Amino acid sequence: MKLIYERSVPGRESAILPASALPFGGISAGMKREKPLRLPELSEVDVCRHYTALNKQVYGVNCGFYPLGSCTMKYNPAVNEEVAALPGFQNIHPLQPEETVQGCLEVLETLGSRLCELVGMDAMTFQPAAGAHGEFTGLLLIKAYLRDNGGAARNKIIVPDSAHGTNPASTSMTGFQIVNIPSAQDGSVDLDALRAAVGPDTAGLMLTNPNTLGMFDKNILEITRIVHEAGGLCYYDGANMNAIMGTARPGDMGFDVIHLNLHKTFSTPHGGGGPGAAAVGAKEILAKYLPGRSAVKTETGYAFKDDPASIGAVRSFYGNFLVCVRALCYVLSLGGKGLHEASQNAVLNANYLRVLLKEHCPTSNEGLCMHEFVLTLEELHKETGVSASDLAKGMLDCGMHPPTMYFPLIVHEALMFEPTETETKDTLDEAAEAVISLLKEARSNPEALHSAPVTTTIGRPDEVAAARTPIIRCALD
Ligand SMILES: *Cc1c(COP(=O)(O)O)cnc(C)c1O
Repeated sequence: MKLIYERSVPGRESAILPASALPFGGISAGMKREKPLRLPELSEVDVCRHYTALNKQVYGVNCGFYPLGSCTMKYNPAVNEEVAALPGFQNIHPLQPEETVQGCLEVLETLGSRLCELVGMDAMTFQPAAGAHGEFTGLLLIKAYLRDNGGAARNKIIVPDSAHGTNPASTSMTGFQIVNIPSAQDGSVDLDALRAAVGPDTAGLMLTNPNTLGMFDKNILEITRIVHEAGGLCYYDGANMNAIMGTARPGDMGFDVIHLNLHKTFSTPHGGGGPGAAAVGAKEILAKYLPGRSAVKTETGYAFKDDPASIGAVRSFYGNFLVCVRALCYVLSLGGKGLHEASQNAVLNANYLRVLLKEHCPTSNEGLCMHEFVLTLEELHKETGVSASDLAKGMLDCGMHPPTMYFPLIVHEALMFEPTETETKDTLDEAAEAVISLLKEARSNPEALHSAPVTTTIGRPDEVAAARTPIIRCALD
């Protein structure tokens, strides 16, 4: 496809603005451009066609089956977008005086109290701009608490190997040392390894639950007990709450701090990098350390609170406010019962698809999954040479988005499916049928999958080069 600059023809234009009646020339000589700005010159219909052609190359959740799930993009109800676009929310300025943004403070306060209720925490901040940033914030709360309670020497955070990759990264960013512990055979935390790892230097544990294999750890109460008895605190990576809303509360499981990715479970489209917001919830003992700018109810309305013990701001102002508006709209429109049903459907859909596929390809572990499950194509790869990536490319030719590939790292040739709550049985049946026929094709005609996709504009780009040395601008003369 041609660049818009390559379509440009001098003198062709689509703007029909009248000449300005005002004199022009107030720019001092030194500030003027030496050459006129180079803009593409096209007719209106050419511009329209150019962008429509680009649009057609995009595959999104609005096009068809998209098993990257809430972790990347689940279907987000349109009403949440409409509410976030209301001028009273969209056109405010973060420096406006409190009394002029009372409605916005009410949004933050209401969302905080509803989400605290959902996860069993006592206080919440919306300042962090993404999940990893939320982890960073939560670990700083743990650090501040230990400092004030005789635990300054505790410098180790235990991170099971089934954790999300951001957990060890955040641990290291906050100056803690990582103690990695392996998973047991069934994918849960190895309790013996945990018992052996805790000690007087334990600051805490970070647990991704459901873990990256899509499993809810059956020993969760024992896990938090072991860590607390050793004097550490428990961090719950709740980036993805899609499986457990209204069913289980991390606060009741013994966790002291949690982050929720509002851009995953709570309805903000974020595929492609933003915007995000992590809600960091804390138990009472950590509440005073939360970053400032939390909205609180007063006798006359709402106000910002900045606690003197706070770890300080982790982002400008009060976070990605419009993400919070969408989350509140989602929470209020579904209600407690609706959130619970959404999670139940997410789990049901994942298990339905898992059962359809498991006869044809092994899964990473046995038994029921939560909102996602992992196929391992290790055997298939050995037998036929068809890799997880080849199968994913084949899915493109079936008009579906591939699932997450090569994640989690502890499963070889992994394909992780997360269908989410909004897919119908028909869609899941069709998707399963397509994947099963690709698995059969891998055995009968592996060559075909090595050369897939054949229907897309771009087939097999050099993914490393695309990530490391992307060409994102076109050098014009
Ligand atoms: C997505 C995710 C994160 C990281 O969130 P970002 O917003 O991408 O920084 C952390 N933990 C889990 C379990 C996740 O799914």
